[in-house]
Amino acid sequence: MYLPYSYTKLAGAALRMTIGSAPTAAARPSRLSGVGRALGLQIALGSCAALIALAAALAPARVLAQGVRSDRTTYRPGIDVLDYHFRIDFPARPPIGAINVTAEIALRRTAPVDTLVLDLLAPMQVSDVSVNSAPARFTRDSSTVRIALPGGSGDSLAVALRYRGAPADGLVIRTDSAGRWTAFGDNYPDRARHWLATVDHPSDKATVSWDVRAPLGSRVVANGDLIEESPETAPAGATPMVLTRWRTNRPIYTAVMVIGVAPFAVFELGASACSLSEFPGCVRQSVWVAPETRSTLPGAFARAGDIVAFFARLVAPFPYEKLAHVMSATRYGGMENAGAIFYADGIFRRNAMSESLIAHETAHQWFGDAVTETEWPHVWLSEGFATYFAALWTEFSQGESAFVAEMKRSRDQLVKTPLTASEPIVRAAVPDLGKLLNSNVYGKAGYTLHMLRGEIGDSAFFRGLRSYYLKYRHGNALTADLQRELEASSGAKLDWFFEQWLYRPGFAELTVSWRYDEARRAMSITVGQSERFQPYRLTMPIEITTASGRVIRTSVHVNASRVSTQPLTVPLDGPPRTVSFDPDASLLATISAK
Ligand SMILES: [Zn+2]
Repeated sequence: MYLPYSYTKLAGAALRMTIGSAPTAAARPSRLSGVGRALGLQIALGSCAALIALAAALAPARVLAQGVRSDRTTYRPGIDVLDYHFRIDFPARPPIGAINVTAEIALRRTAPVDTLVLDLLAPMQVSDVSVNSAPARFTRDSSTVRIALPGGSGDSLAVALRYRGAPADGLVIRTDSAGRWTAFGDNYPDRARHWLATVDHPSDKATVSWDVRAPLGSRVVANGDLIEESPETAPAGATPMVLTRWRTNRPIYTAVMVIGVAPFAVFELGASACSLSEFPGCVRQSVWVAPETRSTLPGAFARAGDIVAFFARLVAPFPYEKLAHVMSATRYGGMENAGAIFYADGIFRRNAMSESLIAHETAHQWFGDAVTETEWPHVWLSEGFATYFAALWTEFSQGESAFVAEMKRSRDQLVKTPLTASEPIVRAAVPDLGKLLNSNVYGKAGYTLHMLRGEIGDSAFFRGLRSYYLKYRHGNALTADLQRELEASSGAKLDWFFEQWLYRPGFAELTVSWRYDEARRAMSITVGQSERFQPYRLTMPIEITTASGRVIRTSVHVNASRVSTQPLTVPLDGPPRTVSFDPDASLLATISAK
């Protein structure tokens, strides 16, 4: 989701957000065209034979087999949900409070557990439970339904529940500013349990089908493919209803399983990223809004097709059936529900949508949705990637100068943020999910990816990201899984890098000085590091303007010690005119010259 780190409270963040257009100047060409060459890909928005071949080679088995699953989670061990089928019945007339839900759950039992524990909060009244079509015993407490299972292991089970209630959260039911009732799922991070009986944890991904019955006049958007939209014949005097069905073909996690019900106007963005989808053909995109805001479209969504195509070429084919962009009641600025991104309604009403926000949420379709962190402390694998990929879109679409300016703004903010100095990106545990999201998992994590790219180079960095993505897509991953893929792509050990940037708080506080040795006609660089943090091992770019006016770019390796001095091997024609340290904000560091 989109939650700039300058905003500390989740609720209402969207109302305070100022999402403006990014700078437009493109003084330098994008380095990403170089990335494309390094990968052997055609990055310019055009054809991409290499990826088409790759998609064809990789598509079937892994995708349909639910990807690589991690057994490293401790949440509900022995249970692996494969599929949810929810039927949601809304009442015909307002006030829309209680909903009736039927949940059919197909699961695999991977160990001899005798109880299925589903998350579902107390306002939901459970009436019937069955296992393999036979009535089943269950007990209820304020947060779970515990269902007795027949003896067995390594088997598949079909569990069904019926329940009813008015969700306090998770499914946000409200009237909009025009007095029309609407309902929007907003599950992140663990709020699905307010209305959906699930194993409510990112480590257990499953396909989901939705059958939603709502008053005619509403339309329903959800994850996956639209299967059916059928008005029902109503008896005289009754409110006519419409049944809408959606279904996913890919497993997703509970926080990104949603429906949106409202009197939508739908703006078709058309097809893009053709042959860059896991599904045949192109990626279809649309924008679902309140009718009175339709005139603002497409606005920033005019580039939505290019954004999907760019990420698909850079990473892998788009992972879902379609991509809907939805004006909604989410508490976040944007929420990356799989195949159906929800945005705060205020952004549409102020006509303040930005390409940066669209790029962030779109990048999540790959990172966060298709590859999901196994455990919450690794949430940077979602937010850090979305943050950095939005910056990569800036780099691609606006050029190097705009990208560097974006990274500098991020760096300048991060070094002033107390949390950067006090907590690592990956925490040992996140006992309070209300504190899951912070500037570390967004900005500092995005910066860490930027530094990784600088450390191992564009080619190894993007090849490593691609192999990480393809290995874990439609499954789960941990930080160590990413490290392994990047070490394989670069041939370098990166434990020191991951340790200093992800598992330790802080940033580099550097004091730099240089000396020119007349006899050698070369410089040496001395770097001091503050006592505040453990010293960092760094590669620092340096730009030197020589006595004759020539500009030389080089770099110096800084040891993880309080003071290190390194000779520069670049021959010079005299004492340098100027020396600039880290001119393009490659490092999360403060640098002062001595
Ligand atoms: Zn996000």
